[in-house]
Amino acid sequence: MKTTTYLSSTLIELEDNYGAHNYHPLPVVLSKGDGVYVWDVEGKQYYDFLSAYSAVNQGHCHPRIINALIEQAGELTLTSRAFYNDQLGAYEKFVTEYFGFEKVLPMNTGAEGVETAIKICRKWGYEKKGIPNGEAKIIICGQNFHGRTTTIISFSSDPDAKGHFGPYTPGFHSIPYNDLEALKAVLQKEGDRVAGFLFEPIQGEAGVFVPDEDFIRAAATLCQQHQVLFIADEIQTGIARTGSLLAVCGNCTCQGPCERQATYTKPDILILGKALSGGVYPVSAVLADNHIMEVIRPGQHGSTFGGNPLACAVAVAALNVVKDEKLAQNARHLGELFRMRMNRLIEKTNLIQLVRGKGLLNAIVINDTPQSKTAWNICMQLAENGLLAKPTHGNIIRFAPPLVMTEEQMHECCDIIERTILNY
Ligand SMILES: *Cc1c(COP(=O)(O)O)cnc(C)c1O
Repeated sequence: MKTTTYLSSTLIELEDNYGAHNYHPLPVVLSKGDGVYVWDVEGKQYYDFLSAYSAVNQGHCHPRIINALIEQAGELTLTSRAFYNDQLGAYEKFVTEYFGFEKVLPMNTGAEGVETAIKICRKWGYEKKGIPNGEAKIIICGQNFHGRTTTIISFSSDPDAKGHFGPYTPGFHSIPYNDLEALKAVLQKEGDRVAGFLFEPIQGEAGVFVPDEDFIRAAATLCQQHQVLFIADEIQTGIARTGSLLAVCGNCTCQGPCERQATYTKPDILILGKALSGGVYPVSAVLADNHIMEVIRPGQHGSTFGGNPLACAVAVAALNVVKDEKLAQNARHLGELFRMRMNRLIEKTNLIQLVRGKGLLNAIVINDTPQSKTAWNICMQLAENGLLAKPTHGNIIRFAPPLVMTEEQMHECCDIIERTILNY
């Protein structure tokens, strides 16, 4: 165990005094991680049930990913795209074959991936669909979370995310999530001006909202009928989190690219981030086929760090871990176990309304108002009992542990949650 001379309280004070107050963390200061566990500076061990918002699907400090990082860091880290590097081409071949697309555009953070997808979509709208310049619209969903840039928050419905950050980027049309009729109505009314439909296959930040069984398939069909790009933001849901390689894979665990599977709906544009690096390094990617990606020409988009050799080496290792350790299958199995245990708990308490989710992206809804402190206080108690989770939207607690968890560990975690709730 790493030793440190600071106490949690001192370190919290430092962040408080010198850092912008743009987050409200649980008062736990972590200094070490290994697999499903993290430790605080006092040496207390916790199960991590956030996984850095699903960036650490492969578990903390996975040795294969860390080795890839260390090896590549000693060779070459950054060249910029002014030159070729010896890692990028191999990574691009690997990641496109892995997800079943013809081309990839590499970026760093999730928000950059979404921005990239928006730019590609608009340009495609003008150059391929023939939308009059400046009039392209993109349909988005209420309660979405796609990141924090000025354009992305322009189409957020969260007053905290949006308030006083205007003027806002125009060109976005909001419909309620999981509402096919609303999608159909917009497309019928102004489909000739619509370039894309951007959505999360499960809304994570909003509180883990799973759409109806046929929503993704039917929405894709509508988009196809109106020549509108179907753009899946799988930054949180992708890479085995929901029990398949991608949430758009439906109920398939073949570890894709799975175009033969009846449940798979291939997006026109796929956005990935977070677990693409196993949480080791910021790596995001936008995937599409040639007829879409070819609208981007030299000089029209880029990033100094995008596609750097370190990112490429880390991402290849991270994706290999997902396949080799069958993380999608494990997420599916443990997810069923988790929801079964939570449903049993719900029968014993009035504190929880329901559990929902898919694979290991789940949430419980606490029986109190979103303004109440109940969910926060439960998370404080969970931390005390050795399990870290964070409320979202006041009365919802998201549970998303690393996917490398064992069945025995999951039972122990459910025991902790049960004990905490029943003693609250
Ligand atoms: C986290 C997230 C993003 C933003 O990713 P950053 O790396 O934080 O910029 C975008 N979309 C979804 C669905 C996310 O969960």
